Amino acid sequence: MSYVDEIIVKVVANNPGETEFHQAVEEVLNSLRFVVDENEEEFRKAALLERLVEPERCILFRVPWVDDKGQVQVNKGYRVQFNSAIGPYKGGLRFHPSVNLGIIKFLGFEQTFKNSLTGLPIGGGKGGSDFDPKGKSDREIMAFCQSFMTELSRHIGPYTDVPAGDIGVGGREIGFLFGQYKRIKNEFTGVLTGKGIGWGGSLIRPEATGYGTVYFAEEMLKTRNDNFKGKVVAISGSGNVAQFAAEKVLKLGGKVVTFSDSSGSIYDPDGIDKEKLNFVMELKNVHRGRIKEYAEKYNVEYMAKKRPWSVKCDVALPCATENELNLEEAKTLTSNGCILVAEGANMPSTEDAVHHFINSKILYGPGKAANAGGVAVSGLEMTQNSMRLAWSRKEVDSKLHSIMKNIHNICVTHGKESDNFVNYVKGANIGGFVKVANSMISQGLV
Ligand code: NDP
Repeated sequence: MSYVDEIIVKVVANNPGETEFHQAVEEVLNSLRFVVDENEEEFRKAALLERLVEPERCILFRVPWVDDKGQVQVNKGYRVQFNSAIGPYKGGLRFHPSVNLGIIKFLGFEQTFKNSLTGLPIGGGKGGSDFDPKGKSDREIMAFCQSFMTELSRHIGPYTDVPAGDIGVGGREIGFLFGQYKRIKNEFTGVLTGKGIGWGGSLIRPEATGYGTVYFAEEMLKTRNDNFKGKVVAISGSGNVAQFAAEKVLKLGGKVVTFSDSSGSIYDPDGIDKEKLNFVMELKNVHRGRIKEYAEKYNVEYMAKKRPWSVKCDVALPCATENELNLEEAKTLTSNGCILVAEGANMPSTEDAVHHFINSKILYGPGKAANAGGVAVSGLEMTQNSMRLAWSRKEVDSKLHSIMKNIHNICVTHGKESDNFVNYVKGANIGGFVKVANSMISQGLV
């Protein structure tokens, strides 16, 4: 059995029930086969793959908090510090009822390669809780965040581990988390990214993942002498990543026709223009409402409990969550003429859907490359905090743009096949792996 296959078997046996983690490891290792085979002796001796798939540290903790009725509630808290070979652990916090150890491990594993691809000195980590922010008052959110940070603060720091937001963790939550860290440690440091502009945050951080995904997709289109002008774009989700991906698509002349949330999707064939997008931003970020209200306001189709992939489009940008695009939906997309899929979310396409996109030779950009703009600007926020200065919107945006172009170049370098087709999965995985592997070997047995 090959070294890669041995490790895949071990990961499945040693991490029972962690299906998303198995899926992520299989996807990465399968595309590293060539590099691993070439260096098998050295990698085996150093047990490199065994170390790569085992987090450096998993922290699991209890989060007690009091709800508005005076009742004590208890949630689970997680921080997985996956790999610090190239820098302090860095990765978001997710607050969602579906969160469990396997999901946080898959996200932390992916984050290691994504962070490496950005070219910035940041390692991989991820955390979160099964706490559901939906329907909670601001006071309840604050109580939860303060309790969560009371424990997390022991394990993080600007030189150790710098968390950010993810699903269910936006500016409001980062504010409460940062406030509690500052209170406990009595220090004002860049321990979290995604902070408010008045207190250490970076301009363009809220926009970064969505904008970055579209910058990456734009580079992909360029390889086929194409661009976003006039393209019909289906987007899933309606949160942070989806909103700013839509904003950038509009800017580049594309037409966005869908949004979704966990209850269903809307389809607006006339296109979601700037005014309608402002309505979505207000609906989701201020009123914390459901996307169904868009269909009611603009009198368009609402597809209850459905994802948007049945809609005819040229470009699909999955920006909601993992495994939200399966093989059947992938086939519908390609048979409807979709030429590009770029993932704003982490692992939104199932493994067989990914194979279908690659076998169909459409442009397929996996999340770890396409959505790396968020963590890249988080890295730039850390730089600004260390330098005690703040860059302009234009400066940060142009740095983000060039980082995304660079990640695209790395994917092309490592992913171009003999017929000139670019396998972005292979390109991103090899491109992210090489620096991490070399650093781990240089640092000895850690
Ligand atoms: P938000 O919480 O802002 O938005 C998430 C969106 O996805 C919401 O519309 C939500 O709907 C929907 N969603 C969440 N869970 C599910 C589910 N199980 N089924 C269907 N829809 C769901 O999160 P973000 O926009 O920040 O994150 C979206 C994706 O992008 C995630 O995969 C995240 O890991 C990834 N990502 C985010 C980065 C960032 O900077 N924020 C960076 C890189 C990747 P509802 O409101 O109904 O829950």
